[in-house]
Amino acid sequence: MDWFTEILHTDLAQKLRVDKVLYEGQTEFQDAKVLSNGRLGKVLVLDNVVQTTLGDEFVYHEMLAHVPLFSHPHPKTVLIIGGGDGGLLEEALKHPSVESVTMVELDGGVVELAKEHFVELNQGAFDDHRTNLIIGDGAKFVAETDERFDVILVDSTDPHGPGEVLFSRGFYADCKRCLTESGILVTQNGVPFLQASELAGSISHFRALFNEGSAYVITVPTYAFGMMALGWATDDKSLRQVDVATLEDRFKKAAFATNYYSPEVHKAAFALPMYIKRIID
Ligand code: SAM
Repeated sequence: MDWFTEILHTDLAQKLRVDKVLYEGQTEFQDAKVLSNGRLGKVLVLDNVVQTTLGDEFVYHEMLAHVPLFSHPHPKTVLIIGGGDGGLLEEALKHPSVESVTMVELDGGVVELAKEHFVELNQGAFDDHRTNLIIGDGAKFVAETDERFDVILVDSTDPHGPGEVLFSRGFYADCKRCLTESGILVTQNGVPFLQASELAGSISHFRALFNEGSAYVITVPTYAFGMMALGWATDDKSLRQVDVATLEDRFKKAAFATNYYSPEVHKAAFALPMYIKRIID
């Protein structure tokens, strides 16, 4: 029986049993695999790091999309950086107020793999008339565009290789320039138990650039070794204080079902365990 070992951290690794290798190859930028596992279903692996799985993608994609999109009173324009599998795009498009989602993904090869192997996850979101897919570097896009967005979601790989620039102060400053007045930036920020300096770095950049820089936490089975942090940056401090009743009302009006997100979970996710609070403070 074959096992895939993900070595992302220096001291700990995780293993997944491989029932079938559905794809193995090289895109223009990364080594890519699509594996099949009995519990997780299809698994997307880039440069030997698990990106998403059919079994638990709902946690990450729902919480990355719906927390900012229900915090904002009327989000119309969304920018996704990365997110090649299309799972986040699919969640963002569920919001009736959203008129357009621009997604800037570096690697067209990942989008092609997602269209072929992960239709259950992206549900044809690439073909939605509100989707504007750009194949290119997200950092270059935010440095150059004149467009403004209500919500920016950074669904990046970890800070190695092409994803490294997406954790830099310059990139976050460009994101801020691309946000509307009460805009929100949310970022993939790793597992604090093992990637503390990555989270501390992002939060210190947020606090230098925005009125508020913080994080919220989620538990994703395949992002192993503890809670995962999602970074939160905005100039409008009231957006994090939206009460449960208001969130309930927005959630009810949006009229879609979720598997992890709820207004209570949304509020609770900002309550940080002390070891994570210490990292960000
Ligand atoms: N959910 C995953 C996680 O937490 O690790 C991330 C999934 S998504 C597939 C990450 C995407 O970011 C990849 O498809 C990768 O090609 C893309 N990416 C990496 N660097 C990028 C950059 N500079 N600009 C745009 N996309 C980038």
